[in-house]
Amino acid sequence: MISVEEAREKVLSGITVLGTERVSTLESIGRVLASDIVSDIDVAPFDNSAMDGYAVRAGDLAGASELTPVRLRVVEHVPAGAFPTIAVGPGEATRIMTGAPVPEGADAVVMVERTAEEDEGAVAVIMATVRAGENIRRKAEDVRSGEVVLSAGEVVSAAAVGLMAAVGCAMPLVYRRPRVAIVATGDELVAIDEYPGPGKIRNSNSYSLAAQVLDAGGEPIVLEVARDTVEHTTSILTRAPEFDLMVSTGGVSMGDYDVVKDVLEQIGKMDFWKVAMRPGAPQTHGTIGGTPFFGLPGNPTSTMVGFELFVRPVILKMQGHSALDRPRHAVTLAHDVKKKPDRRYFLRATATLQADGTYIAALSGAQSSAMLSSMHRANCLLILPEGESFFPQGALAECVRIDRKEGSE
Ligand code: AMP
Ligand code: MG
Repeated sequence: MISVEEAREKVLSGITVLGTERVSTLESIGRVLASDIVSDIDVAPFDNSAMDGYAVRAGDLAGASELTPVRLRVVEHVPAGAFPTIAVGPGEATRIMTGAPVPEGADAVVMVERTAEEDEGAVAVIMATVRAGENIRRKAEDVRSGEVVLSAGEVVSAAAVGLMAAVGCAMPLVYRRPRVAIVATGDELVAIDEYPGPGKIRNSNSYSLAAQVLDAGGEPIVLEVARDTVEHTTSILTRAPEFDLMVSTGGVSMGDYDVVKDVLEQIGKMDFWKVAMRPGAPQTHGTIGGTPFFGLPGNPTSTMVGFELFVRPVILKMQGHSALDRPRHAVTLAHDVKKKPDRRYFLRATATLQADGTYIAALSGAQSSAMLSSMHRANCLLILPEGESFFPQGALAECVRIDRKEGSE
């Protein structure tokens, strides 16, 4: 039996980043950039108005107020998308809309709310002063042409998608998403749309795992359920090299029909099969035809916790992510917690922020590894170390936030 750290180190050590591909800008959301994105343009591309109003010469408006307005002759109207053709001279103004280029001669914009019209718009009545430069957005104030706006290794956010669109990057180069084969095992399993007969249960693990794969950025491919025979399980596990990763559930404990470990040893290499943790000690890892293979335990929460600790970081690493650890923080226990001293426990819990900035954590329900509802309610896993068995109410413990992304706070 090896420790969680050792297991994690072993599974990650053999993993390298997958190849790259070009995808559309929108499809790149959440992906890791494989090259820098350089702007082909200044943003803003020209000095433009930040307001609907009048482009003016600030010096013309000295002393302007509601009681002492200044009247300017309107020489042109410039909506967004048009380009001014007439320079603004002394005593003149151009009616201008937000985003429209500022005409020659003007050095400020007065917002329309501080103005009135006379002579059917031929004269602007200005009732406020402006500073030179006021309400003008400068050329290149956001991005300069040739500037690196996003760097290789960055994870694409919604704002990054918009930034790429602004600088003309239509097909960013990103790391590929791993194709992850999912294999449920067990003669007791029936499909989601079947009502289980005597002795049968629905196959929920293929769904929770596929969802976890998607959530980690991978592409899940759910294969046929393996029956509990060496022959049938072999026929499915030998397909591993078609994928970047294969994950199975069940069939790895000490039962009479648990054949996954045997099959792995026959057709591939087994690295380890037991980790000092609960839930789910029989976490099996190896390779089949060079493809990393995880034989996760069958109990629904053991499967999910095993995925969370060992498979998720592998999927992230394959996609070029550098942050592989979800955030952790200290919590105060809301009640006594008992455990066996033999292993490290990952208990489903809910951490709640207190007014003083600390967190208090309570178990989110019964901790049987067969139960999923407490996993559903949990926002964290309480990490209780091996060697200890009693944690009183008020004691400090560490938790890992399964509701927060790697690299976040
Ligand atoms: P095993 O290790 O194969 O004996 O599985 C342990 C427990 O998990 C058994 O109660 C199985 O019925 C259950 N189990 C195994 N695979 C699945 C699955 N795909 N969906 C839901 N429960 C499962
Ligand atoms: Mg089984």
